[in-house]
Amino acid sequence: MISKKMAVLVQNSSIIRAMFEEGKKLAAIYGAENVYDFSLGNPSVEAPGEIKEAIIEIVRGEESNLVHGYMNNSGYEDVRETIAKSINKKFATSFHAENILMTVGAAGGLNVILKTLLNPGDQVITFAPFFGEYRNYVDNFNGELIVVSPNTTNFQPDLTQFEQRINETTKAVIINTPNNPTGVVYSEETITALAAILSQKEKEFGTSIYLIADEPYRELAYDGITVPYLTKYYKNTIVGYSFSKSLSLPGERIGYLVIPSEIDDYADVSGGANVANRILGFVNAPSLMQRVVAKCIDAEVDISAYNRNRELLYHSLIEFGYTCVKPQGAFYLFVKALEEDDKAFANAAKKHNILIVPGSSFGCPGFCRIAYCVDYKTIERSLPGFKKLAEEYLK
Ligand code: PLP
Repeated sequence: MISKKMAVLVQNSSIIRAMFEEGKKLAAIYGAENVYDFSLGNPSVEAPGEIKEAIIEIVRGEESNLVHGYMNNSGYEDVRETIAKSINKKFATSFHAENILMTVGAAGGLNVILKTLLNPGDQVITFAPFFGEYRNYVDNFNGELIVVSPNTTNFQPDLTQFEQRINETTKAVIINTPNNPTGVVYSEETITALAAILSQKEKEFGTSIYLIADEPYRELAYDGITVPYLTKYYKNTIVGYSFSKSLSLPGERIGYLVIPSEIDDYADVSGGANVANRILGFVNAPSLMQRVVAKCIDAEVDISAYNRNRELLYHSLIEFGYTCVKPQGAFYLFVKALEEDDKAFANAAKKHNILIVPGSSFGCPGFCRIAYCVDYKTIERSLPGFKKLAEEYLK
């Protein structure tokens, strides 16, 4: 018999994954081109060509024990140095290899840092709407996730409420910008104010509160908008990055943590994270992929395709009478459901073969997430369905 805790987790297993499976079933009945599956954040843009070439070159060119062997649990030294230099060039920071820990995607990185930081009962604050897995990741280490309720006017965090939720057991705060599921980029004004609150609360309680910046969408930002680099605003910041979306490599499971030397208890946190990477069973991030991302450090996916999708979807939905904040980054659009019950609304959309995810999965009922990382043609073909769906409610 499985554990009680796991039995509950299985019961509540990800609705997003369930929709993805349902999409495949609908495609078998109606034909793939007549099903509009906006449920999963799986990049639709190809990984850059350099990636494939780098994989072949590395596998052909190096002795296999250098490509396939064990290494330091934090990752290859030279790879980490290359990444540190690249961050320094982009954001005028001063990181070195010892500040970088290669991880199994952002998900691996978040689990590593939470394992390193949390005592049972420690609180971790996040802002709704949020990536639903945070609840599981915090629970993995018997922490408690505290959710600041959403500010649905512009989806910038509600800082007044945030300030009230911090107490002596607050160990960390997770923020995600560009945000999944809203596509909103937190403004510099928001970040500065959030950092000031955290610094003030650290003083008040005599504690260290770590800000975990979950950044898999950093590179997916449109209209030249700046995404502030958080270590520059708050000393106790740890960045979790991933190549899943920025290089369209989600199945390859590669990312890193940035652990700046300035943070409180740096040596313990950094050493702890190294051990956590090992004992969580990751041991180290995939070795071939470490080499690949280092070799392709300046490669980029062509985000113009996502941008085209964003423009078409956003303007069409507004024209049909929907309400949503225009996303500034990532590849999600968070639309207001046309009835109070977001699950009922997602079900109504399904009747038009449109699969969208209820906002309650992200701690924000009353909205639905549309992942527009799909073919442009899928969006074009889905528009009559979105129009009819709106007419059912708005006529
Ligand atoms: N954080 C957020 C906000 C995400 O949306 C995702 C994936 O969709 C992850 C973390 C996990 O990303 P990875 O594939 O790098 O583990």
